Amino acid sequence: MIMINGVLVSAGKGGVYGEKMLKGHRVWDPYRSKLAALVMLGVDIDLNDQMKVLYLGAANGTTVSHVADYVDSVYAVEFAPRPMQDLIEVARRRKNVIPIMADANQPGIYAPMMEAVDLLYQDVAQSNQVEIALKNLPFLKSGGTLILMLKTRSVDVRKTPEEVFKSSVEELESAGLSVDSVTWLDRYQRDHAAIVCTYGAGGVGGSSKKSAT
Ligand code: SAM
Repeated sequence: MIMINGVLVSAGKGGVYGEKMLKGHRVWDPYRSKLAALVMLGVDIDLNDQMKVLYLGAANGTTVSHVADYVDSVYAVEFAPRPMQDLIEVARRRKNVIPIMADANQPGIYAPMMEAVDLLYQDVAQSNQVEIALKNLPFLKSGGTLILMLKTRSVDVRKTPEEVFKSSVEELESAGLSVDSVTWLDRYQRDHAAIVCTYGAGGVGGSSKKSAT
């Protein structure tokens, strides 16, 4: 990941959502992007130009646009019409973004246009977040990485964030994922835990250390 004077940036054409520029690079703001928050909190995320990414919950493409600056291609799934309009504009300007208007609960709809991916990234704030991630797991290569931005309050407001997190991790582990790190994003984003997992044996992505911050 590119840091300039302690600021996370990506190398791409600016003017996507009014982001600042720094020495010709796009500033990637951790207050606007959970993935940027995760990196700024010290988690080593590998994004490189060989990677294919399936991104669930693309919204208007803020984070998608930065991810696309780093990787080979991003399949960006979003089901709401309004943000989809902005996402299409992002895709018009970044040829490696493939916008898909679909419900991530129904991956069979976009399966025909998919290829295997190295990273499955999910930020959907739904009550069945883990279920959605598991439904999309067949697209992830063995050894690939899942980054789940778990919004605990969306899962069950009657449970504490820790309870929601614990049961979510148990579900992920029973589906063959090993949890590499868990990071609460509170400094930048409330009520979110970023769970980074490796799928199957031999992992190529993510960190091997187990941490809870
Ligand atoms: N990841 C975005 C970013 O960092 O720029 C922000 C995502 S926003 C918190 C969550 C998005 O997920 C919303 O745009 C919402 O419409 C979308 N979403 C929620 N459930 C979805 C589903 N089942 N399928 C597709 N998109 C979904």
